[in-house]
Amino acid sequence: MNNTYVINGYSPKGLFERFEDICAIPHGSGNERKIADYVVKFASERGHYAYRDASNNVLVRRKASPGYENRPPVLLQGHLDMVCEKTLESNHDFTKDGLKLIVRNGYVSADGTTLGADDGIAVAMMLQLLSDPELSTPELECLFTTDEEVGMTGAKNFDYTKLHSRRMINIDAGAEHVVVSCAGGQRTGIYTSFKRIPYYGDILELTIGGLAGGHSGIDIDKGRGNAILITAGIIKKLRETLPAFIIKMEGGGKENAIPRNCTTTLAVNDARAAVKVVSAAAAEVKKKLSADDAGFYIVVNPGEYSGKAPSPQLTDSLLSFLSSIKNGVISMCDDIDLVKTSQNCAVVNIDGNRLRIRILSRSSDSSDLLKIRRELTATTKKYGFRVRHSSGYPGWLYEKESPLRDTFVDVYKKMFGKKPPIIGVHAGLECGIIKSFVPDMDIVATGCATYDEHTPDERLDLASCERMYAFLSKLLAQL
Ligand SMILES: [Zn+2]
Repeated sequence: MNNTYVINGYSPKGLFERFEDICAIPHGSGNERKIADYVVKFASERGHYAYRDASNNVLVRRKASPGYENRPPVLLQGHLDMVCEKTLESNHDFTKDGLKLIVRNGYVSADGTTLGADDGIAVAMMLQLLSDPELSTPELECLFTTDEEVGMTGAKNFDYTKLHSRRMINIDAGAEHVVVSCAGGQRTGIYTSFKRIPYYGDILELTIGGLAGGHSGIDIDKGRGNAILITAGIIKKLRETLPAFIIKMEGGGKENAIPRNCTTTLAVNDARAAVKVVSAAAAEVKKKLSADDAGFYIVVNPGEYSGKAPSPQLTDSLLSFLSSIKNGVISMCDDIDLVKTSQNCAVVNIDGNRLRIRILSRSSDSSDLLKIRRELTATTKKYGFRVRHSSGYPGWLYEKESPLRDTFVDVYKKMFGKKPPIIGVHAGLECGIIKSFVPDMDIVATGCATYDEHTPDERLDLASCERMYAFLSKLLAQL
């Protein structure tokens, strides 16, 4: 397909050629038709069964190698779509341009754009395994899903009765380790509307920022400050000595990020006195923050205001609500050192006549998510707010017994002379969805070393791909 391959000197050659072929086909989320065409054609040309559904998910089946006919089948799984991000200077068109690859110091990246090694390397691995003449394998099923990056809708829509396998290796889970659990998630939106009344008087403009933030799943156990809750704490402190209420508030941005900034306009009856109390409260906050949040700052500007404001009761309700919901790590897993359940108060917005709060809850245990949902609903009602929960996606709870995981660990030890790191991911993987449809599926997840995914700095470690390909080939031969 492409005879000017730029990744050279790594083996198997076909793996890297397939990766480059994929990079030449635009395949952002929602735009997977062409890459699905490519996979189906690739499989059909090799005489494999290939099934494609209306969501462009593709299932390919390679027959068992001679001598492996009596072994149970095995499923490999990864997603076809990629995140499309580019630098400000880049004029790349993700709907029609192929990526321009750059190989440097053992890594491949794309010029000014995401590389889509998440999860293109899984696609390339599966294609190479489907066509590798040297491979000894039980019946091999490869499931290529779509729209993973935008709600995992491909995996949600697939008809799992098509599968023969009851053991599965997901290849979308980071570097050369074995992942044994992932979190489900649920988004909650909380709303209320209110009337504004005239307000003339002193105000404080309060901005806090410089916090480390981070991913609301992966980084939730790092004890980082939440800009919204810090602001709420400071306002509470202020109200212990002086009357104050919120006129306007904007905290956080993305639902899956720990909020780093919050800007609030406060009505106060004595701006000068309020500045002192707020500054003292902020100094106390700073003492308690972790080293990650060393950049924390607060800017307080006194001023005067003439306009409309919500009644002080809105502030009462909001502050009480925020102090009665859980935030951060809620519980840990029993059998493994991993966050089981967490919650991130991600966005608070008071503007116009509306208050909006957005919360993302995560758990590997679906019953925990359900419990949280009920708790949030009850707390919300108590303060007279309206609540809307998203349907969410299920987690994948650590299982004590997993023959597939045992074999994975054995083969890894023999090959690399050490035990692989066994980890859980406190974020969503398609494994949770697949597990919910096929509860008796024995699952592990793994992948190759990639860095800065979802950014134009994304890069893939080529030697890691060589190792993981050799490992997966050996593992399949043992299954
Ligand atoms: Zn991915």
